[in-house]
Amino acid sequence: MKQKCFNCGKKVPLRLVLLDNFPTALLIGLGFFIIFSLSPAGALFFLVYSVFSIIWFWGRICPVCHFYNTYSCPCGYGKISALFFKKQENKSFQKIFKQNIPVLFPLWFVPPAIGIYRLIISFSFLLLCVVLLFSLIGFIVIPLVSRLVGCKNCSIKEECPWMKSSK
Ligand code: SF4
Repeated sequence: MKQKCFNCGKKVPLRLVLLDNFPTALLIGLGFFIIFSLSPAGALFFLVYSVFSIIWFWGRICPVCHFYNTYSCPCGYGKISALFFKKQENKSFQKIFKQNIPVLFPLWFVPPAIGIYRLIISFSFLLLCVVLLFSLIGFIVIPLVSRLVGCKNCSIKEECPWMKSSK
């Protein structure tokens, strides 16, 4: 099934949008599991923070992107963002991206840090496997999916700080 693009020629198939989002959803789920092993309340906070950081992304980064309100966005955020946030004109995408992307960093770095701490104080083979899986998805699978699938044919990938950072 192909989504219809109103603003440019590129149509991102729904299966690619889902493929782009699945590893991130898995990352958050595994992060929740890791933190839960130390603190259920902390895991709940992580979940709430994850949702907050994604909404922040929709509100701060997507409105300055070429793919705002189009079906050309590889992860589908462009359309969701347009439902809640207004387009921001005359702002540099690179600058806004670099200013706001650190909001997502805790999703990548807090769970492995807590996982390592938890393994040191009380080793668990299951937790070790989950931490390794988390690291594999966060640091290898997600950048690879972006590079090889989601952002592969993007017309602005040379301008995108995310693509430059994963080179
Ligand atoms: S490509 Fe990225 S920044 Fe642009 S609309 Fe999609 S998710 Fe937002």
